[in-house]
Amino acid sequence: MRAHERLIEYARFDTASDAKSKACPSTEKQLALADRLVKELKELGLSDARVDKHGYVYASLPANCAERKAIGLIAHMDVVDVVPSHPVKPRLVEYPGGALVLENGDVLTPEKYPGLLKRKGKTLVVTDGRTLLGADDKAGVAEIVTALEVLKADPTILHGPVRIAFTPDEEIGRGADLFDVTGFGAEFAYTVDGGDVGSIEFENFNAASAIIKIHGISIHPGAAKGRMLNANLVACELSAMLPEGETPADTEGYEGFQHLTEINGAVELTTMHYILRDHDRQKFEFRKQRMADIAAALNEKYGAGTVELQLVDSYFNMLEVLKDHMHVVRRAEGAYRTAGVEPYHEPIRGGTDGSKLSFMGLPCPNLATGGMNFHSRHELIAVEDMDTMVRTLVELVRAR
Ligand SMILES: [Zn+2]
Repeated sequence: MRAHERLIEYARFDTASDAKSKACPSTEKQLALADRLVKELKELGLSDARVDKHGYVYASLPANCAERKAIGLIAHMDVVDVVPSHPVKPRLVEYPGGALVLENGDVLTPEKYPGLLKRKGKTLVVTDGRTLLGADDKAGVAEIVTALEVLKADPTILHGPVRIAFTPDEEIGRGADLFDVTGFGAEFAYTVDGGDVGSIEFENFNAASAIIKIHGISIHPGAAKGRMLNANLVACELSAMLPEGETPADTEGYEGFQHLTEINGAVELTTMHYILRDHDRQKFEFRKQRMADIAAALNEKYGAGTVELQLVDSYFNMLEVLKDHMHVVRRAEGAYRTAGVEPYHEPIRGGTDGSKLSFMGLPCPNLATGGMNFHSRHELIAVEDMDTMVRTLVELVRAR
């Protein structure tokens, strides 16, 4: 079976996760795909395939040679719920280049979606334009399962132990939270959850949130002279104390930012939510310290307790861990080249489950799936790119 055929089957399962749920998995329906995958892995001969009580699927393929080092392959089963996720109607289309028209009439042009240029002449899996496809990350799941099938079918490919995990709830930021790193037992691993073939991601933001409460004093405006403290104006002052040119709209590449995601104000109480991001740990710490300094300066000016600041770290740059395990990245580069693709890397302007796993003791960069337009009704993936990723994963675990 080819990887895209598996993707089309998995796309039938609605696995949208739900950030509002406190449970894990956040939605029961993810378990239907988990059960299906356990069954499929068992049929492939991975007899220990199982799903745990939180909806994590684990399985392993024993070594067929003397190599003892276990390598992990990880993908997530859930999809986002920000666009309709069901019923997905995947379709194969030959793409000769130019405009691509979906069944609902949406037109995708290479001008708007330059990624199409790399897919000219390939066969694409597309949606009808009404739902997402779910290639993020069912393509990753399909490529891993297909790589296992290749390894099982060809005993001349020598490999060490291969550990597999399919996680729930990645899209709501919890995919790594209940991951059993010790039970998984891999020395290092790869998430298969990226975009264009060839990509290796091993650097991501350091991330924190700042929640700021500003307490004002409300009095009738007619009698307010010297007595009112307008929390809204203190919030404006705070925002103005941050340097210009450091917002998401001003920055790219390795440039960090602070981003005012939400502000709610009245004279008596104004709350501000910021997220702080930087690849560089020192600059990240500086951004947090600067927030604290600004809060202190405003308290000095308006009285203690006027500004309450709560800083919470969200995740850290996995490069901090991976810099001591760069052989993991080199191994992926070699696997890509053997599969006929030139590898490249880009800093992620966000986080990944791999960054959390890296800090939990499992060095874990992120590899491509081949898909594009994730989290969109225009999501698509080329079947040839999925085949390339299957070859890459086989090379990745091949003993050397
Ligand atoms: Zn994903």
